[in-house]
Order: sequence, then structure tokens, then C-alpha cells
Amino acid sequence: MNSSHPAPRRHANDWAALKSPLRRFLDACHADFSVETGGAVANYIPELGKADPNHFGISLATIDGYVYEVGDSREPFTIQSMSKPFVFALALDTLGADHVESAIGVEPSGDPFNSIRLDANNHPFNPMVNAGAIACSALIREAEGDGAFEYIRQALGRFAGRELGVDEAVFASESATGDRNRAIAYMLRNSGVIKDDVSKVLEVYFRQCSVLVTARDSAVMAATLANHGINPVTGEQVVTPYAVSRTLSVMTSSGMYDYAGEWIYRVGIPAKSGVGGGILAALPARLGLGSYSPRLDSHGNSVRGIKVCEALSAHYDLHMLNRSEDAHNIIADYDIGKSASRRSRRPHEQKILASHHRDVRIIELVGTLTFSNVDYVSRQLAEKPRPHFIIFDLRRVASVTRAGARLLAEGFRELAHFNVTAILSGTKRSSPEWKIVAEWTDTLSNVRNFPLLDDAIEWAEDQIVYRHGGAIEAVEMTELSEQPLLAGLGAEELAQLASLGTIRTYHAGEKIIATTEPATSLYFLRSGVVHVTLPGGIRLATIAAGMPFGEMALLEGHRSADVVADQSVTALEVLLADFERFREQHPRAGERIMRNLAQMLADRLIAANSKVNLLTAT
Ligand code: GLN
Repeated sequence: MNSSHPAPRRHANDWAALKSPLRRFLDACHADFSVETGGAVANYIPELGKADPNHFGISLATIDGYVYEVGDSREPFTIQSMSKPFVFALALDTLGADHVESAIGVEPSGDPFNSIRLDANNHPFNPMVNAGAIACSALIREAEGDGAFEYIRQALGRFAGRELGVDEAVFASESATGDRNRAIAYMLRNSGVIKDDVSKVLEVYFRQCSVLVTARDSAVMAATLANHGINPVTGEQVVTPYAVSRTLSVMTSSGMYDYAGEWIYRVGIPAKSGVGGGILAALPARLGLGSYSPRLDSHGNSVRGIKVCEALSAHYDLHMLNRSEDAHNIIADYDIGKSASRRSRRPHEQKILASHHRDVRIIELVGTLTFSNVDYVSRQLAEKPRPHFIIFDLRRVASVTRAGARLLAEGFRELAHFNVTAILSGTKRSSPEWKIVAEWTDTLSNVRNFPLLDDAIEWAEDQIVYRHGGAIEAVEMTELSEQPLLAGLGAEELAQLASLGTIRTYHAGEKIIATTEPATSLYFLRSGVVHVTLPGGIRLATIAAGMPFGEMALLEGHRSADVVADQSVTALEVLLADFERFREQHPRAGERIMRNLAQMLADRLIAANSKVNLLTAT
């Protein structure tokens, strides 16, 4: 196999001709191995002998649900033994692991697929050889009775992401000639593994082997196994992660029959072949491969299919035991001194937060939370003084493994001993992995969840303010003298200003200022809380009693954001025209106010800059 595939020269402007390297690789595999004509089409099932030996299709499904296809990737063929892993997984989920595992072993037999030999307990060696697969079909019949085949067909369809049909001619052909399988089934009945009518069990087995799939279907089915049971194209959870890991185990040890040891040594990807000419390979967390080429080697494995798998594994170094991972997944680690919430704080609150900013630590994580990553994070916690709150910013975390979730929950429990509250923000709680985290952390009282980072920071700030004596309830009435915009004004000037304005009350949810309206007044919030939001609903700031809003009217003619009352609110509204007159009459106070405004804007700019720094300095 050519290891470098130079792209054909094309006009550089022909951007539409851009191909992903993986597609080029698969195209090259198809071209290189099409000339391979070794092996022979199976004919012990007479109908299979009719397959066109030249058919050759390759498909690769990624775990993000993209499907590459090359050659005869839509050519239907019978699934045959490639059905075995899926029916085994289905049996595990349908009958329970104990039941299935007590009837069928998991040891490689070292024998060909159709061996008439049982293990020392008179059970099939494993579910990947005919004896084990026939036992599996019998188990499904135990659970589903005459509906067993339909139950299997529908499950296979969920793995493939589409409804699958049956090749009746192949079914009839195998039923008529499958005496060896009949012998195996009688032997299983003799040893008590099958209790049912042998011919009914075999009907299920032969039908299941005659289900029609394509290389594309096989790739998606394999990718479902690679994606812990979730079909990456349809998003459906087809089988449980337990069934998946056990199925991949037996594919690893026995999927390629008496070639299994060699296979896992050289290729290192769990796989399953069928005498119809298909091979599917499932590399966990990476991809599913399906190939179709009916010429088989002496083990009953597709010659070209094996070559494709070998080439893919070698070229991209995909052997499943060759893995490494970066444990360093912290991309930012700071405290609220660097990035405060969007709530505008009153001066005494600001003072408290400024001297206790180390009490709220924010750790931003990226990628997947794995065993290694969460362990790394948990060791970093001790590297800084103990905060009271640790916010884990998980916006850039796509998923968490079970091991990661477990370590995370254990870490939170550890933090509880030190009275540290863990706050999760930015989690996608709908995914199955996050449900695990939630399950383990819901019982802990020191774990909180805020979908938005800013809400998390604001909540933690409130706790700090509260602990240090600052009231956080905004129901109390505040005086004009507390307004930072009016700092430095004398009592008379304040009284004069108060007499110019009108006290307004607003109910929760009421819009006080609307974007694009002319800015004709400014407000001093006396009680309650308002939110400044962009029309899309994005919150820019929270403003509590004692602070001004709409003060940008002093600089801008129109409103650039909405202001909405968060609860019932009272505010002093001062018309801009009156305010200007006041400034003319009291030039000293007027200058003072403009200087205060400049200070407030400068503070906001500094806060915004440090947020930008956080984003770029990582
Ligand atoms: N139906 C076939 C048989 O039992 C399946 C064998 C296979 O694909 N290896 O002989």
C-alpha cells in the first residue's frame, strides 16, 4: 500500500475539489486493492456462490456521524456472521448479562467458525462462532417467541440506521443445505443450552444471517459499537455501554475465528467478518469501517477486506493498544479579581469583593473529562490557597467518560470536607455522560449548577458579599447619596436633583428602556434589581439598588440595550433636559458627575479588558 497519495494537480482555484485526506486514503485503498483477486467466493451455501467476485465497496463512519463511501458501498449482500456481535449485544440487553453469560462462554476457540466442538462445560466457546451465535438466537427466541426474528431485524436496523430486508433466496439456500449448523444446534440441545425446537431456532439464525446490508450499513453498525452504543448518524442509543464493551471484547478475541490472534496482533481493531464477503471493524471512540468484497481466504474472511483494515490501521497507527492522551486540559485558572460578574456592584460590595477575590476560583476545562484529565485537575486544586468556591467552566468540555465522572464526583466529596463549594457551569446536562455526573453529585450539598458562567460567578460573589456583612437583598431603599455617579455632591445639590426627578415604580418583567428609543432620561435605582439585555436576551449587566442605569444618555442619543425590571423596582427618573439645566446651575456638581461617569466607564473598560486577556492569554 502506497503510504503517500499525492493529490492530483488541480487548478488551485477549484476549491470544490478539496478532499479530506481520509477520503483520498480510502480512494487509494480501493484502487490499490481492486487488483487483488486472491481467494474464492463462498459456495457451501449455494446461493452465495452467485455473488459477483469483483464487487468491492468500502465505507467508513466517523463517530461524529459522517460516512465516507468508496466503490460498491451500496451493493447489498447478506450480513451472515457479521450479525453475531449485534445479536449478542441485543441478547445481553434483552435477557440480562447473567443469563446470557451462563449459557455462552467468552473464550476463543481457536477453531473455524463452523466447528462442532463445545467447551468443557458443554457450552459454546463464544458468541462469535456458529455454536455461540445459534445459542444466542435461541436466547432471543426464549424472550421473544415467534417474534424473535422480527425483533432481531429491527435491532439490526437501528444499528444500521435504516430498515433492513432479507435475501429470501440465500435464506432458502442455507435452510436447505445447513446440515452442519443443524448438527451444532442438536448438540446444543443435547447439552441443554437450547431448550426450544431446533428447527425454529435455526430458522431465526438462518434468517438473521440472510439480512441484507451494504458496506455503508456495516460501517454505521460498527460505528455504533465504536460510539458506546449510540448510532452516530441517527443519534439513537441502540444498546447499553455494558453490552457494547462485552461485544467488542468477544470481537477482539474471537471475531476473526482462527485468525483472531493474528488479527488483533497486526491490526488491533475489534472486527467481525461474514462469509457473504463483509468485514466490519469498530475502533472505540474513533470509527466504524465496513467493507464488502466476496472473495474469501481459507478462514472465511474477505481477502480485500483484510487488506483494507490492515492498511488503515498501519497507515494511521490505529492499533487500539497504541494510545496516548494529554492530561493537561485546564486552559484558564483565575479568580474573580480577573473576571467579575456582570452585576454592577455598589461601592461597599466592590470593596468586599476586591479584598476577597481569591475566594472564588474559576477553572476552565476543555475537551473530554477523562480519568487522566480529572485526576490532573484534582491535583491542581491544592496548588493554590483554599478558595470558598470553585467554579468549573465546562463550556468547552464536550463529554465526560464514566471514569472521569466518577473521579469528579469523588473530588467534589473531597472538597466538601474542606467546606469548598463546587459550581458547575456550562454543562450540557442532556448527554448521557452528564446524567452520570448529575446522578453522583445530586446527593452532594456542596455542588451547584448554573448553565451560564456569569450566573455562577454572580452567585458566588453574592455569597462572599453576604459572608462579609454586605446585604445582598436589594429590597431595601437606597439614598441618592449612595449613588457612585453622584459621589461628592453636597446635601443641598442632592436634594435639588431629587426634586427635579420623578419616582417611578415598575413591576417584575416590565421593560423600562427599549433599544433604539431616544435616550431622554437617566435613572437612579432606589430599590430592586434591573437587567440590561441585548434584544436577543443576552444579559450585559445586572444593576442593583444604589446604582444608576440609562446614564449613557449623557453620551449617546439612543438606547443601545433594553433594561428590564427583575423584581418590583423603584427608581428616580430624571429627564435629560432637567439634568442639563441642573448642571448649568451647579457647574461644580456637574463637573463632579461627569468625572464620576468617566471613572465608572474606566472601571468597566478595565474589567472588559481583563476578560479579553483571559480569552487570549491562554
Ligand atoms: N450463515 C453462515 C453459516 O452459519 C454464517 C457463517 C459466517 O459468516 N462465517 O455458515
